[in-house]
Amino acid sequence: MSSNVGIMMELSYQSMKIAHQAREADELRAEMRRKSLLILIYQHLLGQGYVAAAVALDQETNGGVMRFEVCDNIDLEMVLMEYESYHYVKFQKYPKLIRRTAEPGENRYAKSGGVKRSPCSAVKPLPRINPSQSPKSGNGAKKAATSENGSTVPPESSEFGLSVSSVKNGPLGEVAMNRKGQATDGKGSVHDAVKGAGIDSEHMERLLKPLSGFPGMSGEMRELAAVISRDIYLHSPNVRWKDIIGLEDAKRLVKEAVVYPIKYPQLFTGILSPWKGLLLYGPPGTGKTLLAKAVATECKTTFFNISASSIVSKWRGDSEKLVRVLFELARYHAPSTIFLDELESVMGQRGTSMGGEHEGSRRMKTELLVQMDGLARSEDLVFVLAASNLPWELDHAMLRRLEKRILVSLPSSPARQAMISHWLPPLNSPGGLELRTELDYETLAKEMEGYSGSDIRLVCKESAMRPVRKIFDALESHRDEDTDMPAIQLETVTTADFLEVIAHTKPSARNLMDRYTAWEREYESV
Ligand code: ADP
Repeated sequence: MSSNVGIMMELSYQSMKIAHQAREADELRAEMRRKSLLILIYQHLLGQGYVAAAVALDQETNGGVMRFEVCDNIDLEMVLMEYESYHYVKFQKYPKLIRRTAEPGENRYAKSGGVKRSPCSAVKPLPRINPSQSPKSGNGAKKAATSENGSTVPPESSEFGLSVSSVKNGPLGEVAMNRKGQATDGKGSVHDAVKGAGIDSEHMERLLKPLSGFPGMSGEMRELAAVISRDIYLHSPNVRWKDIIGLEDAKRLVKEAVVYPIKYPQLFTGILSPWKGLLLYGPPGTGKTLLAKAVATECKTTFFNISASSIVSKWRGDSEKLVRVLFELARYHAPSTIFLDELESVMGQRGTSMGGEHEGSRRMKTELLVQMDGLARSEDLVFVLAASNLPWELDHAMLRRLEKRILVSLPSSPARQAMISHWLPPLNSPGGLELRTELDYETLAKEMEGYSGSDIRLVCKESAMRPVRKIFDALESHRDEDTDMPAIQLETVTTADFLEVIAHTKPSARNLMDRYTAWEREYESV
């Protein structure tokens, strides 16, 4: 009996001891977390040049933080970002980490009226639609009202995308509104980032405002914002729809998906809410980039021309942050188009590479997906326009998010004919010399089946080069002797010449066409 009591006492003692140890371990972990956070804050302050504050922090913590340093690739922002991502995955929304303190006499809740609105709706001049035609939905009505108040930017002042005057003339005047409708004072540190990116002061003003989602905008984030800002088209690429030969279907679909929602937002609500992701796929050299440039020219959206090199950073963690910064900037400058060229090199299928995928790359891809989801849920006018020559290599999760997929096919026979006569019209004047052509356009177009637009351009260029090549000797000897220019007559480019060039230039993608159409059948979006 007494031995049983002894055993029970021993057991209860042991369990108390274990509970006590567990509590101690918890406390230790909490203490370490606190300390790590303090060290991160200390390093962050130092990094920002707040030396006195950092020293004060160290003193207040009894000199505990100075003796440690932060491990590689960890910083306060990374921790915050990871927390945000965690929060997003768990609750499908980003946490609110900070909020502005109300100033005396100010009603904090008055500023947005509870309505989340993309910055663009306040600053962009949206065309008005006859009220009797516009949908009566709350959203549509709200947007229409905004457009009425919207600025009136004369076409010449809205050079491209980043139209400063439209911000100034907007109903909000000089007060910048960020994504969450919070007014900010416009003295953010993006200023330097933009300066670094070589953006002129006209455009800079648009970027001056602090960005939401960038707590603190540290030096590192500023650098990343500068990297991405370099990829913003500040000048129109000057490609009009009419410059794109053929591709009528693709043009129509792109207009429907990207152009009209920006021009007529009132029409694109509810079930018609605009596509957020659009994939242009097809053989190389068929005009995918041209289509994107036409969007940039015609829509006057802020255009982010992003290639893999812009966001694939060799530094672990940077790519992920770059993606984040990219979408933040896009939202900030909405309406925006993010053009992801050669998507397969950024968003190839995950985990298929030999020996597994680099952790940093996986995280970058996940971030891209998270950001795309964020777009789908938001009302921000930000579109992702992606182009790929190898759609079958794309990650499936990414494909699902690119709801609209458009095959940009090899040019049809009439399109080929139009291209040849566009690049080699009957009379050409290279360098002031007349280049005559005698071409049977119809025959040549037939002969060029399977050639892409860029192949055809190359063949035209090579054909035009032949007669020019023949006069090089005469031109060179003329320069040597410094005599008057002899009368030079270029030979006419004939159908036979052209056919000869075709014979030496193979189409680059003919064999792949079946694969594209098979893929189209499988992944057709509508
Ligand atoms: P990709 O589909 O690989 O993005 P691009 O759009 O860059 O191809 O086209 C490459 C070049 O080929 C263009 O700069 C243009 O000169 C020519 N080109 C291709 N397709 C067309 C087209 N449909 N109309 C006019 N030019 C074209």
